[in-house]
Amino acid sequence: MIRELTCVECPMGCKITVKTVDGVNEFSGYSCPRGKMYAENEIVDPKRVVTSTVKLSDGRVLPVKTDRPVSKKDMFSVMEEINSITATAPVKTGDVIKENVFGANIISARTVK
Ligand code: SF4
Repeated sequence: MIRELTCVECPMGCKITVKTVDGVNEFSGYSCPRGKMYAENEIVDPKRVVTSTVKLSDGRVLPVKTDRPVSKKDMFSVMEEINSITATAPVKTGDVIKENVFGANIISARTVK
């Protein structure tokens, strides 16, 4: 099996090819160790930063995101957690809204007075 990936670790966007033969992955096309690590993670356990909004107690909404990428397999559960949150203003950008949701903190992406 052959997979083509675009490394997103820097603006160069190297095209990385992952060839899997008998369960062994061979990587080519990366220009630095970060690119190989990115490709390995994409194959084994792809992760993404989750962005969404939570309710504020006064009826407004607050943009939030995870403070680190979470496994794609956990994203639905993370969204359920986010949807259950009601935060209270004032909130500053970067404030932790909820700790340790599948290994990440949910943080505010905006200052709301
Ligand atoms: S492989 Fe290295 S140089 Fe290429 S996009 Fe990824 S981080 Fe950038």
